[in-house]
Amino acid sequence: MSASSDPTRCPLCGQSNQCTQTDSSRPGEECWCFTTEIDPAALERVPPQDIDRACLCPRCAQALPPDAPS
Ligand SMILES: [Zn+2]
Repeated sequence: MSASSDPTRCPLCGQSNQCTQTDSSRPGEECWCFTTEIDPAALERVPPQDIDRACLCPRCAQALPPDAPS
């Protein structure tokens, strides 16, 4: 078991993926990923063992740089 298999964390950057599907305090709530277009290149970078297990975070899903200063 490795840390990269944590279903609450983005497999690409390790940040919280903010997925409501893994958050027991928000049952039935739609995840942001249902309405956000996921960059296909980002999906290709997901390790095979994490596909269908850990969600991307919103930034990686849209190919944005992590934690860009505002
Ligand atoms: Zn990420």
